[in-house]
Amino acid sequence: MSYEPPISHAELRDLFEHLDRTSMTGYECDHSYKLTIAFLQKRSLPVEPMLAWLGENGAGCDCEVMLNTAAQWEEIVGYVPPDA
Ligand SMILES: [Zn+2]
Repeated sequence: MSYEPPISHAELRDLFEHLDRTSMTGYECDHSYKLTIAFLQKRSLPVEPMLAWLGENGAGCDCEVMLNTAAQWEEIVGYVPPDA
């Protein structure tokens, strides 16, 4: 069952957008949280609690954040994926 993320809905929306836009540049996920961690650190957001939350919400790496977590949360946080 989903529970509230340790970052704000606005920050979560920004994370989805960041990952979406980066993937559009041809970036291929190396099955780590590299992009997610860089995003969190840049904004001084809590890394470990957020990775734990993502794990609980279906994601084991950056691409799974979009495939699984965003699928559940984009409506809640008001994220609209940009047209590819
Ligand atoms: Zn991946």
